[in-house]
Amino acid sequence: MNKWITFDLDGTLMQNPFSAWIFPEVEQLICGELNRNIEVRKALFQEHKLRMKRQEMVAAYDWDDIVRQLSKDWGLSLSIDVEQLLLKHAAAPKIYLLDDTVLPTLEKLKQKGYSLAAVTNGFRKYQYPVMEELGIGSLFDDIITPERMECGKPDAGILRELQQDGIIVAHVGDRLDHDIHMANQSGIPSVLVARDLPAGLEVLSPAERTTQAPFLQRCEEQMRKEDPELHTSLQPEAYRPAYAICQMDELLACIDELASRSSGAAAAD
Ligand SMILES: [Mg+2]
Repeated sequence: MNKWITFDLDGTLMQNPFSAWIFPEVEQLICGELNRNIEVRKALFQEHKLRMKRQEMVAAYDWDDIVRQLSKDWGLSLSIDVEQLLLKHAAAPKIYLLDDTVLPTLEKLKQKGYSLAAVTNGFRKYQYPVMEELGIGSLFDDIITPERMECGKPDAGILRELQQDGIIVAHVGDRLDHDIHMANQSGIPSVLVARDLPAGLEVLSPAERTTQAPFLQRCEEQMRKEDPELHTSLQPEAYRPAYAICQMDELLACIDELASRSSGAAAAD
C-alpha cells in the first residue's frame, strides 16, 4: 500500500512566473494592441474569481481560456498563448524553490519510502515545466491537477485517486481555505507552511505552535483574507492545521511523529 505525502506547489514549494512575468507580459501585449492602458491583470483575476464563484473550478484555472475570452470581449485580433509564455519564463531566477531545504527534504522523504504527489489547482501544462526546471519534477510520483480530476481544492474529490491507491499520511500547503480545510475535512493530518510565523514561536515544535494564541490569531487573519465568506461559515477548528512549519525540513519530524503514532496505534490493536 502506498504511503502518500501530498504537496501544494505555489507558495509551498516554489514560486511560479505568473504574477511577476506572465501576467505583466499579457497586460503589455493587450494594452499595446488597444493602444491604451487598461487594467488587464485586474480583469483576469475578476474573471478567475467569477468562475470560482460559479463553482467552475477547472475553468477558473484555465488561464489560456481566460485570456482568450477577455481578448475576444475586447475585440482583439492578437492571440496570446499562455502556455508558451510559461515555457519562456520558466527559468531561474524568475522561478525558484521557496527555501533551501525543499529539495533535500523531498529526497529524504523518498528515501524513507514515501510516495510524493503534487496536489495543485494549477494545470499540469503550467506546473510541470516549472517543477522540472527546479529539479523537483522527477521526485514526484504523481501530479494531481484540476483538469484531470474535474475538480479543484478545496474539493476533497481531487484526492480520490490517491486515496484509492493507498493512504495519505499528510497534506502540506500554504493556504488555509484550500489546503488545510481540505485535509482536515478528509481526516488527513494537515501541515501549514508558514514562513512568517509570529515571533517567538519558532522555538516550539510544529504541533505546539498551532495551539498558541498568536498563531490562532494569524490563522484567523489569513483565513479572512483568503476567503471572507468561508471565514464566517467555518469554525476555527476547521482550518487549524495539525502542524505549522517555517521551513520545509521541519516536515521530517512531523512525518516521523505521525509514523510512530500510527505504529503505536497498530501495536495497540
Ligand atoms: Mg499554494
